[in-house]
Amino acid sequence: MERYFIITIDTEGDDLWAVSNLRTEVQTKNAEYLYRFQELCEKYGFVSTYLTNYEMANADAMKELGREGIKKGTLEIGAHEHAWNSPPYFPLLKSSGKRGKPYLGEYPQPVIRKKLEYLTRLLEDTFLCPITSHRGGRWCLNEIIVKELELLDYQVDCTCTPGISWGSHPGWSAGSRGSDWSNYGNQPFRLTYPQGKIIKESGIVEIPVTSVRKMGRGTSKWFRPTGSNLMELLGILDYLYIEKAAYIEFMLHSSELMPGGSPTFRLKGQIEKLYEDLDILFCEIRQYGFQGIGISDYAKRYNKERGEGL
Ligand SMILES: [Zn+2]
Repeated sequence: MERYFIITIDTEGDDLWAVSNLRTEVQTKNAEYLYRFQELCEKYGFVSTYLTNYEMANADAMKELGREGIKKGTLEIGAHEHAWNSPPYFPLLKSSGKRGKPYLGEYPQPVIRKKLEYLTRLLEDTFLCPITSHRGGRWCLNEIIVKELELLDYQVDCTCTPGISWGSHPGWSAGSRGSDWSNYGNQPFRLTYPQGKIIKESGIVEIPVTSVRKMGRGTSKWFRPTGSNLMELLGILDYLYIEKAAYIEFMLHSSELMPGGSPTFRLKGQIEKLYEDLDILFCEIRQYGFQGIGISDYAKRYNKERGEGL
């Protein structure tokens, strides 16, 4: 059987975990650190999908990396919508209680449309390629967003985090909360939305992030390095191989590849350790026979297997 390895990088500004004031100007220094990661992917023939947000689409180093890679066919550029820092700006009424950064789903539909249109065009004009993959900021997706993505010719979304609910994470406005993915599994499926009285199947394939439920604990483990979980990731790889998983979807933030760019990797030494782990992990993934693929190409394969598309 053919098995695929999909790398998704949420390509966004520096250490956004530390940013709570929405007016803070976001820095994009981490773009300069992405070449090293791209080189590692190419060493193993893997095709990274950089799900890029507004501020990173404006970072020179990212523009260069993306354009070069698109020309060579060594990477994919997708969209990552951070609704709170992506034009057009629209003030939301803020909750008086505990709040987090706004979810895209909190905005009125015409604003959602404009924000997605703006980011899509910006990415297409910057990287000179069609943009067909999307991941929602803060793992947020709803039926309105799916419908808008379909109108913009998106082919694939990868916002789903199987077994994980963001329902206890508030957004900006009163009563807002994150998406609940707790009843989803590690299988691709077609996203739907209501059209009148019927539920319409969209043209968009959801390809969930790989997240494995730990037996007996009820917690889910992502295929995502932390600097100290190499053995666990190798164990998950082994498990997925035995279970005949058709794909593994890895995720990391671009800012996690820069020292001090995230709370997980503060020091240069931690980044070196991350790269040591990644080198071993990628080498093993290759050994297990997983091939690299951009997420939109994987969606095309999925559609073809279902006897549709292409
Ligand atoms: Zn993000």
